[in-house]
Amino acid sequence: MRSFDAIVIGGGLVGTAVGYGLARAGRRVALIDEGDIAYRASRGNFGLVWVQTKGLGAPHYQRWTRASAAEWPRLAAELQERTGVALGLEQNGGLQLCLGEEEYEKRGAMMEQMRREAGNFGFEYRMVERDELAAMLPGLGPSVVGASWTPYDGHVNSLALFHALHKAFASRGGVYFPNSTVTNGSAAPHQFRIAAGAEEIEAPTIVLAAGLGNAALAPLFGLHAPVWPQRGQILVTERTSRAWPLPLGSIRQTPEGSVLLGSSEEDVGFDTSQKPEIMQRIAARAAACFPWLADLQIVRAWAALRVMPPDGLPIYDESERFPGAFTANCHSGVTLAGAHANLLAPMLAAGALDPMMTPFSVKRFDVSAAA
Ligand SMILES: Cc1cc2nc3c(=O)[nH]c(=O)nc-3n(C[C@H](O)[C@H](O)[C@H](O)COP(=O)(O)OP(=O)(O)OC[C@H]3O[C@@H](n4cnc5c(N)ncnc54)[C@H](O)[C@@H]3O)c2cc1C
Repeated sequence: MRSFDAIVIGGGLVGTAVGYGLARAGRRVALIDEGDIAYRASRGNFGLVWVQTKGLGAPHYQRWTRASAAEWPRLAAELQERTGVALGLEQNGGLQLCLGEEEYEKRGAMMEQMRREAGNFGFEYRMVERDELAAMLPGLGPSVVGASWTPYDGHVNSLALFHALHKAFASRGGVYFPNSTVTNGSAAPHQFRIAAGAEEIEAPTIVLAAGLGNAALAPLFGLHAPVWPQRGQILVTERTSRAWPLPLGSIRQTPEGSVLLGSSEEDVGFDTSQKPEIMQRIAARAAACFPWLADLQIVRAWAALRVMPPDGLPIYDESERFPGAFTANCHSGVTLAGAHANLLAPMLAAGALDPMMTPFSVKRFDVSAAA
């Protein structure tokens, strides 16, 4: 039996960010991961650190996303210094392009709602009209009528982030158990045991961060994680000279020059195949935004599954039956990496979720419990 201070199940972006934060706080951490057969949103995402309309109608989520965006520069600098991995973080704001007046009006109303809901916390945004936008973005298509802008957005090489988090976790003394699917475990308050491959491990704290795997794992530890898979498809063009200094929602150019085009939202279960009609739709919208994009070759494309809670907001919880067992699930694990490593992990290291996390409890789906 090997003893740790904390077991984290799931070596994707959420588990690794939390595991790194716990190890940095001096905890002895075991990070358990299923391996290459797994569905991994962390390897198939778009790489945005995106705030714009996150938390529309849910101000606590807006605050959490903003807090994460604010933590990002510090996390990126720390990871880069510790691991030597360049994350390519650019956080100079972001624009969401609007095709047609209706989209522009609707977007404006959403941004204004975000500002209202931010209250004293404040929310800086601007609706940028076509002429100003065209001067910023060369080759803008005629159907783009404007864009929303906030200073908080950015983008990052999310595979580099993933690599750096794993490397930094190991450098802080964290122990990684790959190819270890957790299917069972024993739970008592502050006393958890699981098998990781051939080894038995135990800890007083367990964090379920297994993405879509959390749905099956949670009940073993007195928790509930009703997450479902939402498929997203992404296309990548050949490299070209740098066209824009900031990400444009579903279009972003890496510092190396590739243009990423995304991203769809489909409810198709665990099917990760690509659908040509969706790829055509993504490409057509991008070409409407910038007609010159149609001359570039698509060099890569993929589909991946988002980890989607029923209302799209993260789920963070501690088990009432087995205190010491926590869940962490979200559909924006790149954006929230700053919060997970720098804000959530310290709470877990201290042994309790801050009261500000209460609205993220799964109880929000249970009307009788909430009453
Ligand atoms: C197309 C697409 C675009 C996206 N774009 C963005 C974006 O631009 N910005 C953003 O912030 N987010 C984006 N996301 C979301 C982001 O990628 C996810 O929120 C994040 O990767 C979730 O990380 P995770 O660790 O929860 O899940 P995963 O990456 O799925 O990792 C879960 C891990 O748990 C392990 N596991 C599962 N079950 C078990 C078990 N029983 N035992 C042991 N291990 C287990 C698996 O091996 C896996 O490695 C996007 C996602 C998709 C699909």
